[in-house]
Amino acid sequence: MQAWVIGNWKQNPATSRDVDALLNDLVTALETQVPADTALSKNRCKLMIAPSCIHLAAVSTRLKDSSVLCAAQNISEHSASTGAYTGDCSAQQVADSGATWTLLGHSERRQYHKESHHSLVKKLSHALAQNLGVVLCIGETQTQYDDKQTLEVIDTQLSVIKDLLAQQPELVSSLSEQLIIAYEPVWAIGTGKVPTVEEVSKTHEHIKQTVAEFTKTTEGTTVLYGGSVNMANADAFAADPMIDGALVGGASLKAESFLAIANAFNQANTELV
Ligand code: PEP
Repeated sequence: MQAWVIGNWKQNPATSRDVDALLNDLVTALETQVPADTALSKNRCKLMIAPSCIHLAAVSTRLKDSSVLCAAQNISEHSASTGAYTGDCSAQQVADSGATWTLLGHSERRQYHKESHHSLVKKLSHALAQNLGVVLCIGETQTQYDDKQTLEVIDTQLSVIKDLLAQQPELVSSLSEQLIIAYEPVWAIGTGKVPTVEEVSKTHEHIKQTVAEFTKTTEGTTVLYGGSVNMANADAFAADPMIDGALVGGASLKAESFLAIANAFNQANTELV
């Protein structure tokens, strides 16, 4: 299984200069610190970065000749292309900036921007129409976890895919290559708290089964874990065959920790080959 490690930079860094510095660290480390014959250089673990919208074009350009992909953190719900939607950025604009993927449904967008099921169906449709891959983020809150509602919550969140396919069955073929699910318990994001690997593994198994029931093309969908992944705990997550990679927030803001996490998944994948 192809492993993925994706950095969600959120509303960071503060300046273009800081963006350049972080990218330089990352690209230099990839070019110079990774011997040519290692798994990392063979691209076993795919890397992707999701910067702020304002930095998308610069990051895409800087990463053009590298193996690292660039993603938006969100796209407009209202139009896939242009329109009178002040403050929005469309799937077409994101694709034009050079990015090839977008995150959708991150818990911070669900919480602060009231991103709903209905808007996510539209955003998924817009992304795929513009040939952008989608990293669909799902996960339960602390209360839902305590009430043992994790699987129920996840099933509801995953049903955006089913609803999209009911509305636009022609998109079915896009989903095999252009859909990644990121399971991110809300209570684990930025808190330093993590579920056990066994819990994540069982939840991922459930996600894979659920998504496989939608259509043949979503059999074998990549499922990443996100929530306080760092250099110290990455090996344990990477060792579980149900965990295909990580969506990383805080630890993606330093090249060293981001690449250490990527390396953990590379090692684990190499051992599985
Ligand atoms: C995230 O925001 O997607 C995330 C996983 O953040 P962190 O790694 O900081 O918990």
